[in-house]
Amino acid sequence: MSASSETRHGLLIGGEEIPGARGESRTLVDPSTNSPLATVAMGGPDDARHAMEVAEKAFRESGWAGDDGARRAKALQKLAQLIEADADALARLETRNMGKTLRESKGDLGFVVRTFEYIAGLADKIQGETIPVVGSRLDYTLREPLGVTVHIAPWNYPLLLAMRSVAPALAAGNAVVLKPASLTPLTALALGRLAKAAGLPPGILNVVPGNGSEVGEALVADPRCASVSFTGSGEVGERIAAIAARRVIPATLELGGKSPVIVFPDADLDRAAKGIGFGVFGNAGQMCWAASRLVVHESVRAALLEKVKAVAEATKIGPGLDDGVEMGPLVSKEHAGHVLEYVEVARADGGQVVTGGTKAPGDRLAAGNFVLPTVLTDVPTTSRAVREEIFGPVLSTFSFTDPEEAIRIANDTRYGLFAALWTRDLGTAHSVARRLEAGMVTVNEAPTSFPQTPFGGFKESGIGFEQGVRVVENYTRRKNVLVNLGAPRKKG
Ligand code: NDP
Repeated sequence: MSASSETRHGLLIGGEEIPGARGESRTLVDPSTNSPLATVAMGGPDDARHAMEVAEKAFRESGWAGDDGARRAKALQKLAQLIEADADALARLETRNMGKTLRESKGDLGFVVRTFEYIAGLADKIQGETIPVVGSRLDYTLREPLGVTVHIAPWNYPLLLAMRSVAPALAAGNAVVLKPASLTPLTALALGRLAKAAGLPPGILNVVPGNGSEVGEALVADPRCASVSFTGSGEVGERIAAIAARRVIPATLELGGKSPVIVFPDADLDRAAKGIGFGVFGNAGQMCWAASRLVVHESVRAALLEKVKAVAEATKIGPGLDDGVEMGPLVSKEHAGHVLEYVEVARADGGQVVTGGTKAPGDRLAAGNFVLPTVLTDVPTTSRAVREEIFGPVLSTFSFTDPEEAIRIANDTRYGLFAALWTRDLGTAHSVARRLEAGMVTVNEAPTSFPQTPFGGFKESGIGFEQGVRVVENYTRRKNVLVNLGAPRKKG
């Protein structure tokens, strides 16, 4: 397979690369220079229908959905090996397409490989239970695949976020149709090609790039769509939830966040400052769980701010493929513009810029979408810059004097994806963790996740979860079977 040398890509349906029905394509650019990188066919509603038809046929006829979980486990394990063998090329492709640093892309690829390995281990352990009932009866449950599952992925972790739902759906025996983000479809298409080599039957994993409002909606509205897994903005999540509700199908939604990081006075401030930097400047801040609101105890505020400022200013910014670069460009010129607009909103509302707040300087970076790591203070909590997800390397800071106040500020958001806290006191750590309205909490750790740990949010951050040992259940349905055994026969 070729992960980086091809410049033209089709839709991947039924194991074949085909042009879109309307013959449309999109030129992708490298976010570090905005120069052309590849051309990708863009599907439309007819292609969405075609993909669903092909997937449904593969689901019914290929045998993938049959009882042989071990066969699926082997194929997914093989796919993990093929991805690992190609990880360097795939990581470079991810960096060129999305902008993140090569180190970050390699981290993503490691996560994808580990996801397939972990999920492969679950594929032959999907089982029901027997349930004691009164009388001469046998009651048991079966876990069946759903059919065709639809997955709509964002651009910030193009391969990782797509595969964390695709892998369990495949393990459960479903056929999958994946719509990657229009800005970043390249690694998903490359992985789709590897799936064939791993022994997945044609049509079991289909990848259909195309505009979300056309292809995405057509896929979810299709009568063959049995469930949808979506990661992206709240606005689009609501639209998808509405279509799923009309169709009465399950939807797993992983939406935005405005996550707090609380620092207590006894915290190791050096470690905390590094963790805070990682949590909001990592992936150039384009993380649903970016810890973008620092809530720090008044007594250590000045000292911590100095350290966070130093972390921000020491961040080496540049094209993701360059050696030693710690922060790449934002995904698009338009998105970089939105991020900087939020800084202006914060300023207009009375906020102070401690560091950053502009495009990165220098001729070498001028053509790319580079924004400086930014730290803000004094932004009122009512400001849009504090209430809305910025999705860029921008940290707002607040202070507290007692833990109740810290918890109140941390929970003062419509989101509930993630929260971090830094303290050496075990009692504080556990009692505050319980009271934070967030689906994931870390203590003395930046945002960190593993394929085996559940990932999901409270409040407007979403419904359901991805990852974890129970994730395969998301992609199965439970059937209860009750058998009347009749009265035992009398002998003689
Ligand atoms: P979107 O929610 O618009 O896009 C995510 C995915 O949904 C993409 O594949 C997109 O396709 C698709 N999509 C868009 N509209 C529809 C629709 N009507 N029906 C079905 N699918 C659709 O996110 P953006 O990429 O535009 O980012 C906007 C903001 O969303 C970010 O600034 C950030 O705040 C948030 N976001 C959050 C993410 C997270 O991890 N929680 C990830 C990405 C974004 P297409 O690419 O063709 O538009």
